[in-house]
Amino acid sequence: MTKTLSLLNQSIVAFLLTIIGFTITASTAYAFPSNSLRPGGVAVLSITPSQNAKPFVSYNSKPVALVKGQQNWLAVIGISLDAKTGQHEINITESSGKKSVQKFTVKPHKYKTQYLTIKNKNKVNPNNKSMKRIESEFVMKKKLKATFSNSSPKLNFIRPVAGRDSGRYGLRRILNKQKRNPHSGMDIAAPEGRSVKAAESGTVLWVGNLFFSGNVIYVDHGNGLLSLYAHLSKMNVKKGQQVKRGEIIGKVGKTGRVTGAHLHWTVYLNGNAVDPALFVAK
Ligand SMILES: [Zn+2]
Repeated sequence: MTKTLSLLNQSIVAFLLTIIGFTITASTAYAFPSNSLRPGGVAVLSITPSQNAKPFVSYNSKPVALVKGQQNWLAVIGISLDAKTGQHEINITESSGKKSVQKFTVKPHKYKTQYLTIKNKNKVNPNNKSMKRIESEFVMKKKLKATFSNSSPKLNFIRPVAGRDSGRYGLRRILNKQKRNPHSGMDIAAPEGRSVKAAESGTVLWVGNLFFSGNVIYVDHGNGLLSLYAHLSKMNVKKGQQVKRGEIIGKVGKTGRVTGAHLHWTVYLNGNAVDPALFVAK
């Protein structure tokens, strides 16, 4: 009896998922990140304003990405890795001035721990001179993360480099036996010199060298959706340059704080680094 009931429940869930999946694919031409209501996840919420004009949507007082559907708008919201579980809300202001609130529930998620040994000790316990550099880079990165350009993003992401996943997003990190910030992106192991491609079309926001991330490229995809490519050996693009999805922007390297050659890839949404795996097919 219990078994029959749970089977019935499963088919109801499967049916509902089909409807949700259908609504999303039918209402838009874009591929979407998976709706994942957990710290470090992405919430995709449908908004149907009384007029079809683009509404203004904010989450924790920051504007969020909106993509046009047929009858609706889809708000694509980045949930921070240190977000509290429980009810969260977005604030919607329609072009008519009408305001409303939409709620969603963030569920708990356990991330694993990763132990790494870094040979360059100054990258784990930086000296005073390095600390000054880290602090000024922190301020600059905060500004970059807050970028919110007007155009709606495209969401048909590709993996930026071919290679094995060597460090998932969210891993709790112990470097040389010391606790450090959790992993903010996805690591893809690849030999030095392999081409790194833009995950989606966008504008190059910043190119340079950072203490921990080494040579990096930030790409702005629109509406607060950004991607970052780190530890590069070569950078082929300049700030302000338009790049197309799949265009080669640099080469895999081992600059910054690394154990070996790999690409570290971060995806930001409304200022929060979220799990890049949600944007690309398994
Ligand atoms: Zn990484």
